[in-house]
Amino acid sequence: MRVMIIGASGQLGYELSKVLQTHDPIKTYVSQEIAGGIKLDLTDYHSVEDFIIKKKPDVVINAAAFTDVDGCEVNKEKAFKINAEAVKHLVRASRVIEAYLVHVSTDYVFDGIKGLYREDDIPNPINYYGLTKLLGEAYVLSYDDSLIVRTSGVFRDKGFPIYAYKTLKEGKEVLAFKGYYSPISAKKLAEAINELITYRKSGIIHVAGERISRYELALKIKELYNLSGKVIEVDNIKGWIARRPFDSSLDISKAKKILSIDFYSIDDNLRFM
Ligand code: NDP
Repeated sequence: MRVMIIGASGQLGYELSKVLQTHDPIKTYVSQEIAGGIKLDLTDYHSVEDFIIKKKPDVVINAAAFTDVDGCEVNKEKAFKINAEAVKHLVRASRVIEAYLVHVSTDYVFDGIKGLYREDDIPNPINYYGLTKLLGEAYVLSYDDSLIVRTSGVFRDKGFPIYAYKTLKEGKEVLAFKGYYSPISAKKLAEAINELITYRKSGIIHVAGERISRYELALKIKELYNLSGKVIEVDNIKGWIARRPFDSSLDISKAKKILSIDFYSIDDNLRFM
């Protein structure tokens, strides 16, 4: 099986490269050069289609995105190009070579009012990142041989748990947003995607951790690693430009039924910081 990982230089892409190592995956990056990687800018649509069609992988995994939520609000054109328009071209090329397309999306397609969102709940993004990711999903859904993996709070070398751990370790104060989400380590997410590929499932699946607030999570990290800093719960984070859904947690019961691995336990996930 020939596997292509688009965005192999990102948190998830890095872990996918490790779990899929035996397949000697074709790996792409754009600004963070990686060993054995090929430079591919997703906004160069012609090159994207050309590259995929020439390499002819059996599986294309799109782990690339403009993930800076505030950046998307400021640079809307860039967000639209990477998170939405480029996905159309990934779909087109995958269709031509009959590749199975796995596309990673986000809990931020939801407005965060209800929480514990199921795969068939109606999205209603409240920021531009969520909107562009939802548009990307729409293109993917037009292709039958594809899977959308919606996830939440991915962490490896960035993300809230990493910030909380570092700050608390330095004995400083962590400002933790009250809101809920479903954080998962990039490693667990990559392992889950690796298993899903073998089943060639289609449609949408939520693969994320257990529902928790940033406040509860920071307290957990403090306790788990016996850190000296203080956790302060806040309604809003100074400097945020984009609106954040209050409770974007995902219902993961579908994935729990399909997958053999424990991808969701918070304690288990926190071992991979
Ligand atoms: P990262 O921000 O760590 O990595 C983003 C990746 O996208 C990098 O490999 C980057 O390449 C690549 N990329 C960005 N712009 C372009 C471009 N123009 N052309 C080609 N590649 C590009 O993301 P994560 O691993 O954290 O996220 C993976 C997926 O999970 C994304 O789809 C994201 O939307 C989704 N997700 C993430 C969440 C999170 O908390 N991080 C939460 C929910 C969903 P380079 O590094 O070389 O510039």
